[in-house]
Amino acid sequence: MLESLDLVVIGGGSGGLAAAQRAVEYGAKVAVIERGRLGGTCVNVGCVPKKVMWNAAALAHGMHDARDYGFAVPEVPHDWAALKSRRDAYVERLNGIYARNLDNKGIEHLAGQARFLNAHTVEVGDRQLTAPHIIIATGGRPWFPAIPGAELGIDSDGFFELAELPARVAVAGAGYIAVELAGMLQSLGADVSLLYRYDSVLRSFDPMLQSGLLEALDEAGISCVPQATPTALLGEPGNIRVQTKAGAELGPFDCFLWCVGRVPETEELGLDAAGVQTDAKGFVPTDDYQATNVPGVYAVGDVTGRAALTPVAIAAGRRLSDRVFGGMTDRHLDYENIPTVVFSHPPIGTCGLTEDQAREQHGDAVKIYSSDFVPLFNGITDHKPRTRMKLVTVGEDERVVGIHLIGPGSDEMLQGFAVALRMGATKRDFDNTVAIHPTSAEELVTLR
Ligand code: FAD
Ligand code: NDP
Repeated sequence: MLESLDLVVIGGGSGGLAAAQRAVEYGAKVAVIERGRLGGTCVNVGCVPKKVMWNAAALAHGMHDARDYGFAVPEVPHDWAALKSRRDAYVERLNGIYARNLDNKGIEHLAGQARFLNAHTVEVGDRQLTAPHIIIATGGRPWFPAIPGAELGIDSDGFFELAELPARVAVAGAGYIAVELAGMLQSLGADVSLLYRYDSVLRSFDPMLQSGLLEALDEAGISCVPQATPTALLGEPGNIRVQTKAGAELGPFDCFLWCVGRVPETEELGLDAAGVQTDAKGFVPTDDYQATNVPGVYAVGDVTGRAALTPVAIAAGRRLSDRVFGGMTDRHLDYENIPTVVFSHPPIGTCGLTEDQAREQHGDAVKIYSSDFVPLFNGITDHKPRTRMKLVTVGEDERVVGIHLIGPGSDEMLQGFAVALRMGATKRDFDNTVAIHPTSAEELVTLR
């Protein structure tokens, strides 16, 4: 029997759940179809368990620095299994909270793989649901190249399954996940090599952040290997060697971690039956209003191939439901100036144009303000990590169009400054804001 609803959401991750929950607030009858665990990538194999690991790594750094603050901290062994068990239990609690939230809000949760039968009908198991509005929020999954022996490696999903800390780890990649996981593993006691294809990591970020991070990775003891595109993995789990395009052979490693990007989950959705187009990489392109090429079918989150971040998926989902069910006819997400943090050690915060992008767009009208200092916290420690900050301004009024930070606290610092950037703040506005002393953030309002 065909069941009629107002909205069917495929995928119970960040974007899908946000859209569904906002839609019911407007009285819509909604079902969410999820084939795995509620919460999607972010809750289960992304932001949440990742941040727990990052916190553990931060504690390891803190214990090290504590000695310079007079604490007689002995060498404390780290119990990876205990951490994993608490982390997994927390994620399970979140899964339960998400299920109860759906229940409490009257959203039907169907477990299983969804498939389009036509543009307005979706099948899951033996049920068929029809709705005038369908949202594709199926996210993505890790990808790695089909080189010989590739399967000897694990991906970021596999990282979260590791029962113990591997002693020697190769991390292949140069993006968010590669640098984040490399940092955590090293901080918790592994011996990490980071293998990347070109001469830098985070290549789309401002050069100051790239060089600052490479310096920090190096100081942390991570072996950074440029020009290292893997062409074959040899050996067996626990004893893996890697051959690279440049002719080198590296290893042995106990664990090889692929972090070379993600692909969208669109192959098994029956998009052809609905007439929904995908691009060459399988992403579902959308217009400014998250609409696909088929009226009534929308896409939000990672599956769209735009800014693969949880708050972006959530914001796009909520705005879509505001528009479709809440009567806010022009409500949509502005994808410009999205702040983002890389949870490296130390963290990176960035929003707006890089210096290069600004010069390309505005030429000589660009003026840069930057600072490079050892934070007060490290004034008395042997470890002297540097904090670097850059403001990119444009025009006579020196409108701030880019903010780039690397250093302790950058993760928490950026959010408020991103509001200022979005509001069109100028350097003068920054200067006119009285500093908070002694902090690292105060540097941003005292740059000369
Ligand atoms: P997802 O959360 O992936 O949800 C999609 C859901 O759809 C999944 O649960 C999947 O099982 C389901 N699904 C797929 N196909 C079907 C089908 N046919 N039928 C039924 N269900 C289906 N972002 C941040 O902002 N900050 C971070 O710190 C951060 N850290 C990350 C760390 C890692 C290791 C990773 C991998 C990602 C991280 N991200 C982070 C990115 C963030 O997790 C994603 O941007 C976000 O989860 C995308 O949400 P989504 O709703 O688009 O997709
Ligand atoms: P990214 O796109 O960030 O990085 C993947 C990198 O892998 C590429 O930039 C590329 O770098 C490199 N690469 C690609 N193909 C190969 C190959 N064949 N061999 C070797 N290296 C290769 O993807 P991630 O998977 O790290 O993360 C996916 C997304 O999830 C991120 O873009 C981000 O949006 C989100 N995320 C956000 C986080 C956060 O907010 N803190 C944390 C984690 C993920 P190059 O071209 O330089 O070789």
